[in-house]
Parts: sequence; C-alpha cells; structure tokens
Amino acid sequence: MRSLSKSKLLAFRQCPKRLWLEVHRADLIEWSDQAQASFLVGHEVGEIARDLYDPKGKGVVFEPKVEGYDEVVSRTAALIDAQRPLFEAGFNAGGARAYVDVLLPVRRKGQKVWRMVEVKSSADVKDTHRDDVAIQAYVARASGLKLDSVALAHIESQWVYPGGGDYQGLLKEVDLTDEAFGREEEVKGWIASAQTIVRKRKEPEIGVGRHCSDPYPCGFLDYCQRNADQVEFPVTWLPGNKNNKLRNLIEVEGVSDLRQVPDELLNPKQLRVKTHTLGGSVYFNADGAAAELAQHKLPALFLDFETINFAVPIWKGTRPFQQIPFQFSLHRLSRTGKLTHREFVDLSGQDPSRRFAEALIAACGERGPIFVYSSFESNRIYELAKRFPKLARPLLAIDDRLVDLLPIASEHYYHPDQQGRWSIKNVLPTIAPDLRYDELDGVQDGGMAMMAFREALHPDTAGARKVEIEGQLLDYCRLDTEAMVRVWAYFSRRVDFPL
Ligand code: SF4
Repeated sequence: MRSLSKSKLLAFRQCPKRLWLEVHRADLIEWSDQAQASFLVGHEVGEIARDLYDPKGKGVVFEPKVEGYDEVVSRTAALIDAQRPLFEAGFNAGGARAYVDVLLPVRRKGQKVWRMVEVKSSADVKDTHRDDVAIQAYVARASGLKLDSVALAHIESQWVYPGGGDYQGLLKEVDLTDEAFGREEEVKGWIASAQTIVRKRKEPEIGVGRHCSDPYPCGFLDYCQRNADQVEFPVTWLPGNKNNKLRNLIEVEGVSDLRQVPDELLNPKQLRVKTHTLGGSVYFNADGAAAELAQHKLPALFLDFETINFAVPIWKGTRPFQQIPFQFSLHRLSRTGKLTHREFVDLSGQDPSRRFAEALIAACGERGPIFVYSSFESNRIYELAKRFPKLARPLLAIDDRLVDLLPIASEHYYHPDQQGRWSIKNVLPTIAPDLRYDELDGVQDGGMAMMAFREALHPDTAGARKVEIEGQLLDYCRLDTEAMVRVWAYFSRRVDFPL
C-alpha cells in the first residue's frame, strides 16, 4: 500500500480528482502567482516559529525535500529519545506520512511526552486546519509517539510589531487536542478512501466549481477548465448574495447555466445581469449616472493607492496583514478639461506610511471632489489618520471629499462583457477599449504590484532592476486613475473633453 502524505490527504479532502491528478499527472499542475506567494509566506512564518519555540536554538530542523522523505522519518525515530525540539519531524504509519511543524518535549507526571504545534500563516483557524491537525496527530500516534497535546498556532492579526526582530506575540495558539484525538476513525476513513482513488486507472469525473479555490486554489484549474464542457453563461456570473432557493438550485441541483435559473429567484441586480448577459445588450441609465455625478463640480481629482501587506510585519508599529500604502496616482481634471498628474512611490525599504500620508495631503489640496473606485482608499486613509494623529485632520478632510465611482457604475451601468463584475478592469474595456492593462510591461494588476514591491525591497535586487520596477509600478497606478477619468467622463457625458 502506498503511503500518502498529509498534503495528498488534504488534496483528497478538497477534491478526489485533485488527489488523483497530483499522484498520476503531477506534470499538469500550474501554480498561480497567488499560490506561490502563499508558499513563501508559509515559509517565512515557519522560520519565525522556530525562533519562538526554540529561542536557544537547541532543536533539530529536518528538511524533508532536501534530505529525502524516508530519511527524515528514520532520523526522527533515531532522535526521539534525545528529547530535543524537533521541526519538520517525519512519521509514517497507517498508510500516511506526516511532517510536523513543531514538536516539543515535555514532562507530564514524570513521563517524557510530546507537544505538537502546527503553524499556519492565516489569521484564524479554518476547517482545513482542523483536518490537517487531526491527520498529523493520527499519524504521529500510530507511529508510537507519546503525544500529550496538539495545538494550532495562527497569526494574531491584532498584534503590533514592536520592532527589533521581536516577534513574541505574533502567533496565537488554539488547543485542538481533544478534537484531534477524537477524529482518528474519521482520518482512517479518509486514508482508506484516498487509497481507493489513487488506485483507480482513470481520473474521477468531477466538474469545476467552488471547491477549486476553497480552501486552497487548485493547481489543476487550467487543466480542468480546458477539459470541462464550457458553460456559455455560468451562474457564477450572478453578483451578490444568493438566496437559499437559488443556492439550492446551484449547489444541490447542479444548475450551472444562467438560462436555467428562473427570474423569480433573482434580486433586481442579478436579474439585470441575467437579462443583459443573455440578450447581449448594454444597460445604461445615463440620466441617473449623470445626475449623481453632476453634484460634484470640477475641478476634480482621481485617486488610486497601491499597498503591501506582510503576514510577518517588517516595520515597527504595523500589524500582520495590515494594508500599508506605498504608492498613489492622482489625476486632476480642471473645469476646462485639462488633465494633470501627480504621483508618489516609495521603494526605500523603510515604512512608507508617513511619507505617503504627507505627500497625499500635499497633492490633494483642500478643495474639490476626489473620485476613487471602491472604499479601499477611504479605509487606508482612516488607518493612516489613526496611526499619525498629527496628520489626522487633513487626512480625514481628504476622506470627506472622496466620491466612490463603483456604486454609481454598479447601479447605472452593465455591459454583458463584464460577466457580472464591476471592477474597473471589467468596466474599462467596455467604455474605453483603447486603455489596456494587458499592454503594460511587468505590472498589470494589484497582486503583481505587491510582488514587484517585494522584489524591489529584496536586498539581492540590483539597482537597475529596482529602477525598472519603479517605472512599471508608476505606469500601472497611473493607468488606474486614467481609467477612472474615462469612466467618469462616460458617465457624466463629458466625452467632449480632450482626455
Ligand atoms: S480544478 Fe477543481 S475539479 Fe479540477 S482537480 Fe482541482 S479542485 Fe478538482
């Protein structure tokens, strides 16, 4: 019988076809940038955890990928009596293998026993983490390990980094001992079912759906989508919350095409999406959009931020996952239609927050509406005002001037090419097809901007590359505010402006 790793069992829990493909067609896997970024974050958090659980560095760190999986299992068995902290210790029993993030020797009633900690780079405990811990505990105990307790350590998102490399408090433990120990039979069932799937000659027939990104993005999505019968008008294009009857129709009855969804199950916005998507027609309440925008006179500003966030904060005074703005683009449209531009980006490697806030205050002046697209900028301004009380008044004055174009777009406009979405990247091609994100060099969306920022800050990044990244970031953010100007002009019927 093949021994399945914990990650294979978790793949099975997500989708049996994913497990089968991982075992038999691993060549088809294509990890998204987002998935690769999350692997890196997991690695970073793992390193911090080692320092926190073994501050004197007396433990043993195994490297299964480097040393070999079987070798680590053998070395773990040989070292178990030494009673030292173990990191990535390996166990193989009951048809499964597991490598434990943290294993700490403890004494309980005079006995030498072990405490297990599984470390996750998320802000809370998810169901998949509970499955993960149950598998770890089962395999370790089936190998004969005297396991006293099991905990999951996740990131405490409200913790504030005091600086100086002090990460005490970054991780918060949740005890899962009783739960994990009580799920042994369940885990045995998963292993048996997963073994059956792996032995099959053909891949299981499972269609793409919500499970492809929940709890993790699946690396076979491109493959499965290529092979799926393409639904012409997927129900996933329906925006917003779905009522119980609609959810039942989709999730239980398996309805996947908009044409099969009765109108009476849809709210007005969903019905609009269905009607105009199937009819191939544009919905545009031009008078309504123009009337809303007419309340905000020129000159006007158009503002967009780029931000970075770290699971493990690197700047004093910041929290895990805090969105820290490092760049803005600001277009100004005068009464006569003259367009000017200001921008800010900080790739110095220092916390950019204060310089960003000061530059923003200087650039925005004191009068005129400031158009944004979504509430993202408002939330960041509010956070900056809290962090820098001396700048709070001018920052909150900027916040008071913000006008969000997104609700205006979603209330008054829909083009079938938007496929049920209203992000600026979905709306822009239907209004101003000459402005194209896909023609930008290097950075074409917010995720790429974050990755570029991280690369620019990395000590190994050469000066010339940093300059190149800076240019790409500026071009990208500038296009975001140019896009907003064009959307504004279209909705306010000011297409006469020489933009
Ligand atoms: S893409 Fe979806 S259907 Fe395909 S293997 Fe992954 S989870 Fe399963």
